[in-house]
Amino acid sequence: MTPDLMDAGAKALAAHKARSQPFAAADPYFAQGVALYVDGITVSFDGFKALNNLSLTINVGELRCIIGPNGAGKTTMMDCITGKTRPDAGKVFFGSNIDLLRLSEPQIAQIGVGRKFQKPTVYEQLTVFENLELALKADRRVRASLFFRLTGAQLDRIGEVLQLIHLKDEAQRVAGLLSHGQKQWLEIGMLLMQDPKLLLLDEPVAGMTDEETERTAELFLSLEGQHSLVVVEHDMKFVDQLTEGRKTVTVLHEGSVLAEGLLKDVQANEKVVEVYLGR
Ligand code: ADP
Ligand code: MG
Repeated sequence: MTPDLMDAGAKALAAHKARSQPFAAADPYFAQGVALYVDGITVSFDGFKALNNLSLTINVGELRCIIGPNGAGKTTMMDCITGKTRPDAGKVFFGSNIDLLRLSEPQIAQIGVGRKFQKPTVYEQLTVFENLELALKADRRVRASLFFRLTGAQLDRIGEVLQLIHLKDEAQRVAGLLSHGQKQWLEIGMLLMQDPKLLLLDEPVAGMTDEETERTAELFLSLEGQHSLVVVEHDMKFVDQLTEGRKTVTVLHEGSVLAEGLLKDVQANEKVVEVYLGR
């Protein structure tokens, strides 16, 4: 991303903010209690529909788990939310009035949509602390100050995030030496440095040990409420821990929502059982 493109994006975003009234006023994000509104999106790859009229609403502060067999369209859905892929049809709104289909990928990240990919992408040769510091600098509002120096508040924030991601004792360790699970947490910490309103997490516990998986669930539960989280996952024990027997789970299949409800109910749903057993 060249600085010019970033500036162009920022200008477009400012213009967009000015246009969409309530965004400039209070916080429209909270206005209707909706964090993300996906309505009837379809994505075709050479005629094959990876997403087929998919609709989904995530509330402010909600932690939603999305499950579904391989190829169901889970990652493609995230690609549409983050601007990586443009759907052929449908709508994607952030909060009640920000049309994500009109924003670029960096703009979407900048307004508060953070995404964690399947593989951790931390700077292996830098320390844990430096990785978090860098994530802070990636925020153009911070980088805009020419002589970047951490303020007390920013140091506090790094400390807070280190605590959250269980890496306080590893702050000075080179990231390359961390375990796979710790790298995943560090990447989540890097996302948190930018204070996203909506966090999209694609198979965050793949390859983690049981203990790491449990700690990750605790981390996500501690983020719930302050952030909206969309967690795509295969590990049902993890999903069970996250949903605490009371949260909604969405099952995707062939690019659409197959079922939605409590984990125990969707797991007992005949259509869902068929889809999983059929593979
Ligand atoms: P999931 O994450 O649920 O496993 P994906 O969203 O990755 O599923 O993929 C959904 C379907 O779309 C799969 O059949 C996949 O092969 C297909 N697909 C995804 N991305 C592309 C692409 N860039 N080109 C062609 N087909 C794709
Ligand atoms: Mg996927």
